[in-house]
Parts: sequence; structure tokens; C-alpha cells
Amino acid sequence: MRSSAASSRGRRIASVALLVLVAGIVALVGALVARGDPSRSAGVVAAGTVATSSGGADPSVGTGGHRGPVTVTTEPVEPAGDAPELPATLPAAGAAVHAPILMYHYVDDEPPTEMGPYAASLTVATGEFRAQAAYLAEHGVETIDFAELYRAMAGISALPTPRVLLTFDDGGADLYTHAFPILKQYGLTATFFIITSEIGKPGYLTWAQLAEMREAGMSVQSHSATHPDLPSCTDERLQTELRESKRAIEQSLGEATFVLCYPAGSYDQRVQEAARDAGYLLAVTTDPGKESSPATPMVLPRVRVQPGLSVGQFAGLIE
Ligand SMILES: [Zn+2]
Repeated sequence: MRSSAASSRGRRIASVALLVLVAGIVALVGALVARGDPSRSAGVVAAGTVATSSGGADPSVGTGGHRGPVTVTTEPVEPAGDAPELPATLPAAGAAVHAPILMYHYVDDEPPTEMGPYAASLTVATGEFRAQAAYLAEHGVETIDFAELYRAMAGISALPTPRVLLTFDDGGADLYTHAFPILKQYGLTATFFIITSEIGKPGYLTWAQLAEMREAGMSVQSHSATHPDLPSCTDERLQTELRESKRAIEQSLGEATFVLCYPAGSYDQRVQEAARDAGYLLAVTTDPGKESSPATPMVLPRVRVQPGLSVGQFAGLIE
């Protein structure tokens, strides 16, 4: 009996050991599969970034999922997040809206070295920008967003007077460290046109920073996925640039993405139509002007803010 009991206990121990071993192997294989499968990794990152927009900024997530090659996404993009519920079309005979859309790129004491040879001509000094923000606040110039502009273009709501839109192209890291604190200090809002494949790379904003900026009332819209010359893109590439950037913003930040900023201000009829088809309602150019016409919502002009302006010269831009 002793030997039988002992051998029975021995079998039980062996069975438990075998179970533990099998469980260990299953766990190990599972971990290896998860690590080697890019779609699973991307799913984990995407879930983390979505959580970021509602659950506070976590700098450890939200940067890894957009570094790889841009995937082709030609499926229709569903509206996501806090969709502003804008009408799909504008009255072509409606009156143009006077609301200067100011165009900035970088705000820094020195031009950012990562941004190439044109950065100097695109960098407004931090002190200059602070003086411009102070001017807007002291003169009661309200910063409106593109949803408000669109509703005014549709004739369904009026705008405050005087008003202006502030836009920042390219999504450089300086916009978080220099422009954003000044905007908050003076109670102003702005729209940031980001190149979604660059987000999280050195010199650029992160998704966590963008989520924080949105919490403070800023808007984030599309400047394409990789900043190519859109008119020279193939149809397929064009679709990817327009839809992937919109998808990335909507998925990572939960912001309805309906405004496109053409890279380098470059567009043609095909690009305008592709942008409409991809779900954009408005697009901004680098063409100079202050009137947004409902007849031409995909080619809105802007006002370039050059470096070195006096406050008086700046005041002239927003009249
Ligand atoms: Zn740009």
C-alpha cells in the first residue's frame, strides 16, 4: 500500500509538473507570436493612443505606431471622435467670409536644425510671437477654429468681430515648448497641421503632446502623411496620404479631421477632388488672401506671418 500510495503521489506530482511545463510553453509561444506579428503590436499601440486622449497623457505610448512605412488605406474613413456635425456642402452662392487665416511654421529663438534650409525663413522668434499673441488679446481679436469658419461659410452662424484663425504647419516640437504656452497664457486657440508619419520622431511633436494641446482647446488637422508634392503623387499614393493622415489623427486623438493643409501649398484639381472624396470639407493653401469663399472651400487663402514683423505690421495682417 505504501508503495502504491507513493507511486500514486508520484504520478500526481508528475502530472502537475507536466501541466506547468505545457502552460509555460503555451505562454512562451504566445509571447513570441505577439512580438513577431506587426498587426498585433500596432493594435496594442493604437489602443494605447486612443486611451491617451481620454485618460491623460502618457508619453510612453502613442509614438511607436506611426513610425513604420505608411500603409495603404483606401477604405472610406468613418467620422470619428467629436465630429463637429458640419453640413456636407456649402452654398456656392454664399458670401465670402472675411477671417484672416494666419500661417506660421516654427516659433523658436533659433530656427530648428532638423527642419532643413528653409527653417530660418519660416521661424518666428518666440518674443515676436509673444508680442503678436499679446496684441490679439489686448485688442479683443478672437481666435476662431475651422468648424466656426465653416459654419459661417455655410451661413448658419455668425462670427465674433474682430476674428482670426491661427495655423501652424508641420508639427515641429517647438510648437509645444514655445508656441503652446504663449497661446494658453493669452487665452488663444490655434490649429496645428501635422505630418502624421513624423509624429514622435526627433524634432516633432508627440501624440501625447498633441493630446494635451487638444485638452487645452487646440485643434489638430492634416498636413498629409509624409508631406509629398501631392499633384505629382500617383492616384494610389494620393489616396494614402489623404486617408492615412486623417485616420491616424482620428484614431490617435479622437478629433474629427476635416481640414487639409496642402504640403508646400501645392495642389491641382485632381488633388482637390481627392481631398473631398477622402472626407475633407476645407483645405488651406499658401495663396495670399483673407476671404474664405463657400464657392472654393478646397483652396482657402492664408496670410503668411514673416519673421521680423513689427507689431504695427502684424496689426495690418489681421485687418
Ligand atoms: Zn509643410
